[in-house]
Amino acid sequence: MRLILLGPPGAGKGTQAQRLVEKHGIPQLSTGDMLRSAVANGTEIGRRAKAIMDAGQLVSDDVVNQIVSDRIDEPDCRKGFILDGFPRTVAQAEALSAMLGAKGQKLDAVIELKVDESALIERMKKRVADTIAAGGTVRADDNADSFAKRLEEYRQKTAPLSAHYKQTGELVTIDGMQDMDAVTHEIEDILAKAD
Ligand code: AMP
Repeated sequence: MRLILLGPPGAGKGTQAQRLVEKHGIPQLSTGDMLRSAVANGTEIGRRAKAIMDAGQLVSDDVVNQIVSDRIDEPDCRKGFILDGFPRTVAQAEALSAMLGAKGQKLDAVIELKVDESALIERMKKRVADTIAAGGTVRADDNADSFAKRLEEYRQKTAPLSAHYKQTGELVTIDGMQDMDAVTHEIEDILAKAD
């Protein structure tokens, strides 16, 4: 099962991906997590990506395409994977299609979580409060300025992916404003049909 979860920051992609990991035993490939780990480990990619990420802008397509291509080759991706936060531009979607083709693989579903934008900033604030309450570390880009920039990047560069995957006939859109369990249920229905 190879799946893309699309949606703006705060749409709930990460939460849904985690549930799919548990249920289907396939990994969540979050380019944001991979980049944050590169930053934390002080790798060359991490050093270059840090300022861009902190400002809420997108890291270059070449860098993320390579990270994803390498990750998909890992043995735990043999049964499939859930892409969360990638692709984020039409160029990345085209690169993904080419890399999967070269590996003899294809996508099973592209699921978009549609959410009311006015709810997103509140969700980000709640995530920050929950993280602090749990004694965790707040993401450097979970602040009002970076979040506004992330939303703007989404509108300009990522929202066009909906039209792209509509055109390829792969897009399924679900209402991400429902409660989390209802969203999970709808995703499972879609996956059952894709099987
Ligand atoms: P996320 O955890 O998905 O919200 O990603 C956090 C940040 O990592 C983004 O704001 C970007 O700076 C960077 N990032 C993650 N995924 C991508 C991607 N596919 N393309 C470019 N930048 C990305």
